[in-house]
Amino acid sequence: TAQLIDGRAFAATLRARVRERVAALAPEAGRAPGLAVVLVGHDPASEVYVRSKGRQALEAGMKSFEHRLPETTGEDELLALIARLNADDQVHGILVQLPLPAHLDPRAVIHAIAPQKDVDGFHISNVGMVGTGQDAIVPCTPLGVMMMLRSLVDDFRGKTALVIGHSNVVGKPMARLLLNADCTVMVAHKSSTNIPELARMADILVVAAGVPGLVKADWIKPGAVVIDVGINRVDGNAPDGRARLVGDVDFDRARAVAGAITPVPGGVGPMTIACLLANTLRAYCLQLGLPDAPLLSDTKDPE
Ligand code: NAD
Repeated sequence: TAQLIDGRAFAATLRARVRERVAALAPEAGRAPGLAVVLVGHDPASEVYVRSKGRQALEAGMKSFEHRLPETTGEDELLALIARLNADDQVHGILVQLPLPAHLDPRAVIHAIAPQKDVDGFHISNVGMVGTGQDAIVPCTPLGVMMMLRSLVDDFRGKTALVIGHSNVVGKPMARLLLNADCTVMVAHKSSTNIPELARMADILVVAAGVPGLVKADWIKPGAVVIDVGINRVDGNAPDGRARLVGDVDFDRARAVAGAITPVPGGVGPMTIACLLANTLRAYCLQLGLPDAPLLSDTKDPE
C-alpha cells in the first residue's frame, strides 16, 4: 500500500517555520508582516476561508486586516481600497477573496493589486514570471503541492507528470512548476479523450478536476506519486448521514497501486493557507529587502 502523504503535518511544519522567521525578523524590521484580506458580499464558503486566513495570520505573528464590503460595492470603490492597501506600508500581502459578485470583473481587480503584494500569485506579472521560469509569487495550492512533492521525489528531471485540470488557479500553475523542475509534463482537461492512457505513463499524477472518483486505480502507474487536489462534498455518505469530503481519486482502491498518495481531507487542503502565510512572509521580505530563505524547500529549478 501507498505511503500516506500527511498534509496536516506538512502544514504544521510550514506554519511553525513561518512563525519562527516572523519572530526573528519583525523586531529588527520594526514591523510584522501584514496581510489584508478583502471580502465582498457574504458567500458562506468565502466567509469561512477569510476567517481562517485572518486567524492563521495572527497565529503566525502577523498583522491581519480584514475588509468586508457589501455585496453592492462598485468597482471604483473596490479599486480605491486596493490602491490604499498598495500604498499602506503596514500591508505586505493583499488578497481579494474570489469569487466576486457578478458585477465586478475579477481580472480588473486582481491586476490592480501591486504584484509584489499579490500573495495569491494571480497577477499577470507573477503568472508571467512563473511561466518564464523566474522567481515569483506562486499560487498557494500548487506551491503547497510542489513543497510536498519535493520531499517525496529526489530528482524531478525526466520524470513524467500528468496534471488533470487546467484552471488558472491550480492546473496551469501546477503544470508550469513541474515544467520548471524539468519534468516531462502533460496536461489533461475535460476535452481530453485519452486520460487513462496518459495517466498510466505518469510518475507524478496531480488531479484537480473537481470530479469525485474520476481517477480509477487502473489509471495509476504502480508506484506513482498521486496528489489529489479535488475537494468534493458528497451528501449522506458518512456514517452519521452528513455530507463528507472526497477527492477526485478513488482513494481506497488507488492506495493499493500508488507509491504515495494524499488523502482528502488532510492532504493538499491544509497546505493552501499555510502557503498563503509563506507567500505573505516572502512578500514582506521582498518589500523590506530582507533575505528570503526557503521555508520547506525551494520552488525554483533544481540547477
Ligand atoms: P475549475 O472548475 O476551475 O477547473 C476544473 C478543471 O478540471 C478544468 O480544467 C476542467 O477542464 C477539468 N475537468 C473537469 N471535469 C473533468 C473531467 N471529467 N476530466 C478531466 N478534466 C476535467 O476548478 P479548480 O479551481 O481548478 O479546482 C479543482 C478542484 O480542486 C476542485 O474540486 C476544487 O474544490 C479543488 N481545490 C482545492 C484546493 C485545495 O486547497 N485543496 C484549492 C483549489 C481548488
